[in-house]
Amino acid sequence: MSPAAGAWYHGAMLRHLLLDLDNTLYSESSGLERAVLVRMNEYVARFCGIGFEEAVALRRERMPAFGTTLEWLIAERGFSDVEGYYAYVHPAGEEEPLSPDPALGRLLDSIDLPKSVFTNAPMEHAERILARLGVADRFEAVYDIRFNGFKGKPHPEAVRRVCAACGVEPGEALFVDDYPMYVRGFIACGGKGVLIDELGRHGDCGLPRIHGLSELPGLIASDAVLASQLCLF
Ligand SMILES: [Mg+2]
Repeated sequence: MSPAAGAWYHGAMLRHLLLDLDNTLYSESSGLERAVLVRMNEYVARFCGIGFEEAVALRRERMPAFGTTLEWLIAERGFSDVEGYYAYVHPAGEEEPLSPDPALGRLLDSIDLPKSVFTNAPMEHAERILARLGVADRFEAVYDIRFNGFKGKPHPEAVRRVCAACGVEPGEALFVDDYPMYVRGFIACGGKGVLIDELGRHGDCGLPRIHGLSELPGLIASDAVLASQLCLF
């Protein structure tokens, strides 16, 4: 580690690590988030009275204009049964595809920063996942979609609310997520962001990328994040 990079890592500029949950703390290959998306599309199909394939296409078209599928349904479809939606999309036992991950715990322990989870999922989902992975005790807090009034990432209000709760300015936090839209939202607030691009889908996104969390300590120890994001402004 160069002296300059060490100053960035240990100095006042970086004081908190904010991590997304799904497909960030565990591999996409688990199929867990895919199963969540299938249930979301099933729910959309039933609520809108359309077929599954039509729901997939409709959600794919409209959801990117919002932060989440739920936010879209509320804003454009007059939807209000939030708890019914979460009960269907996140049933008990949804975490079964995952296994305890002691290596993840050791990896998180190797990063000398306070850590919190910033997710657009509800708390019950986050608690199941963190308990299953065996890393719940590595995080100071979990900031879920209810914490953000069902308007979470990438909205600047959510970014600022979560950073304030962590006791830091956005520029003092490093945020890691597998959705380019969410990473961009964090960076737009002055924060530092890194994209988890496990399958190499986003080579042209212009964001600092890693394939998995195992690369994060090395990235933090370099000045790559800082340098690449200075180029974005
Ligand atoms: Mg994710």
